[in-house]
Amino acid sequence: MQNDCLKEMEKYAEENNIPIMEKKGINFLCEFIRKNDIKKILEIGTAIGYSAIKMALVDDDINVVSIERNQDRYIEAVKNIKKCKLEDRITLILSDALNIDLEDKYDMIFIDAAKGQYINFFNHYEKNLLDDGIIVSDNMNFHGLTKDVDKIENKNLRQLVTKINDYIEFLKNHEKYDTKFYKVGDGIAITYKKDMINV
Ligand code: SAH
Ligand code: MG
Repeated sequence: MQNDCLKEMEKYAEENNIPIMEKKGINFLCEFIRKNDIKKILEIGTAIGYSAIKMALVDDDINVVSIERNQDRYIEAVKNIKKCKLEDRITLILSDALNIDLEDKYDMIFIDAAKGQYINFFNHYEKNLLDDGIIVSDNMNFHGLTKDVDKIENKNLRQLVTKINDYIEFLKNHEKYDTKFYKVGDGIAITYKKDMINV
């Protein structure tokens, strides 16, 4: 039932050009969630709810809050979450993530929204991270483009990729956090508070 639902979502995403996580990337993330006993997740960028549903299915006591600014995608996500019977554990918020403030603290904050805004998302939601929590960022390779920015001819694309590279530098040089970069999927970064890296 849930598997059928996920398959349909993968098809819908492909047909409608919705950039859901790559299979290898989401599987890696789900395994990470399982191994590290992550229970409370905040996601920035729901799209149609694919990654939120995948993460919630890792364990019965996982709860996900996910923010999406595009109304059509939000509506599609609401439908999908109902179909998968996960409405008790996945809460969706229709808003620009930078226009709202949340009170709760989370084990994991998953950033997978506008690529040019990652530094802003990080700074805005850092306060919502538990001390032993992690921040996960998707698309750090951006289809392999982050290595050769100068060769990108399209100006908008070059600017976007430059911003992703700025974010990578921001993570590498952050005084309070350490980051590990994984070449899985479209590139995933996992960021820990510095004093917590070995716990
Ligand atoms: N995590 C999803 C894919 C998200 S795609 C999955 O893997 O299934 C990125 C989504 O982020 C898009 O749907 C886009 O509308 C949304 N988005 C981009 N910027 C945003 C912002 N500032 N606030 C909320 N959502 C945003
Ligand atoms: Mg992504």
